Amino acid sequence: MLWHYPPMARILQDPRVHVVDLVYCALGKPGMKPTRIITSMPCLRRLACKCSQDHDHQIICGAAPCGVLWTRIACAYPAELCTAYAQALSGAVNDGSIPLRPLPAELPRQAPAAAVHRGPPVRPVHAGWRPAERWKLRWQGQWSYEEHINIQELRTVAMLSKHLSRASTSWDQKVLVLVDSLVALGAVRKMRSSSISLLRQLLPIGMAALTLGVRLEPRWIRSRFNPADGPSRGQPVGPAPETADKDDDDDDDDDDSDSERDDLAQWLQPWFAALEARYSPTAHL
Ligand SMILES: [Zn+2]
Repeated sequence: MLWHYPPMARILQDPRVHVVDLVYCALGKPGMKPTRIITSMPCLRRLACKCSQDHDHQIICGAAPCGVLWTRIACAYPAELCTAYAQALSGAVNDGSIPLRPLPAELPRQAPAAAVHRGPPVRPVHAGWRPAERWKLRWQGQWSYEEHINIQELRTVAMLSKHLSRASTSWDQKVLVLVDSLVALGAVRKMRSSSISLLRQLLPIGMAALTLGVRLEPRWIRSRFNPADGPSRGQPVGPAPETADKDDDDDDDDDDSDSERDDLAQWLQPWFAALEARYSPTAHL
């Protein structure tokens, strides 16, 4: 259905866009699983493949003997596809068909000596966003039903996206969203999840981004610095005292390592910006 969605149909009509159809059975998988890649990189056209029709296809349904659903197993990109993809890209970079912008010479080369990355593999939001005085309470509520915390976290982000979509002032805007759940952060960043319940929450977020340009920029914040933590427990803006006192696995380091991490995040900032500009999928269009 996505391929017939008008904005997608417009993208597909762009002569710079290539449609690559492939089937997993031609890549060593037991099921056929037709898959489509749309790309602006001509080098990926070579990934297209068809079924040789000289074999049977496994019907992808039910659970494997190990108990994992076959649909879940079939989700993974075949290793052959990943290798071919990487080879196609590196070939195109080497022969100059994907021109890479040179990295700016003024990028900092020496990392802060004390900076050792020990936390989750995400950029924490800068400490400047933490003070409770910077934030105002616009809305708070209580869940009237029980569900998994990850779904609740992502549902909150989806509700925010829907709320923003109602005002034209949010259209075509990037909105910073502080998230203290790594699951929600990862799902919104990648706009995918292996959990159908989380996918359901991603749908309105994706729709708002595609149709109205409401783009969420989720950034991670520790619960004990999260200004929305208090209101989520019926308390004033700022972290709730019980969260600030909590000493769980996520928050087990002291403030020294926080400032070290902030130093590292700040040091990495120009690198991220330069690399994003260099490797952006549309950089060569
Ligand atoms: Zn086949």
